[in-house]
Amino acid sequence: MNNRKTEACPKCGSNDLGKGEHAGYALMTPVNKMSFGSKIEYLLCTDCGYIIESYVKKPQKFKDTI
Ligand SMILES: [Zn+2]
Repeated sequence: MNNRKTEACPKCGSNDLGKGEHAGYALMTPVNKMSFGSKIEYLLCTDCGYIIESYVKKPQKFKDTI
């Protein structure tokens, strides 16, 4: 079920982790580009709610924005 068994929450030590993502219009959008942006996916602790990792799902969209 959980394929990230090596991960544990650094705050409470729980290894009961889950994944979530920003829903609706909470997208991260590239600066100075016409784009719809990308969803953000989170790895979080399902016991204390601490967000351990966050990922932009389509990082290629952010190339050449600096
Ligand atoms: Zn925790």
